[in-house]
Amino acid sequence: MQALDASRHQSEVLVAIVLRGKTECSLCGKVIINGDDVVATSHFIADKADPLWRFSDSAMHHSCFNEWEHRAEFVAKFNRIVGEITFGNGTYHHMESDGAIVVLKRRD
Ligand SMILES: [Zn+2]
Repeated sequence: MQALDASRHQSEVLVAIVLRGKTECSLCGKVIINGDDVVATSHFIADKADPLWRFSDSAMHHSCFNEWEHRAEFVAKFNRIVGEITFGNGTYHHMESDGAIVVLKRRD
């Protein structure tokens, strides 16, 4: 696995661009509309052969995400890859098991 370049990723907000009324949920394929609760990440999986790759720059309904069979794997992968990055202000991103991304202060 190629190491992520933290400085390059620093300027990226770790959320996919969700155009409500246009973007489709990558799990059910239905368009995400205003008021839908979504789980969205940036393109954090670089390996196209990874079965989770297409979900790494996408948006999913929160309800779809919660029922997703690969949810635990996706959350673990996010935390392994993105959680490793320390941002300029000493914070990192952590995904909760329900897909919520929280910003935490790195304690070393
Ligand atoms: Zn959905």
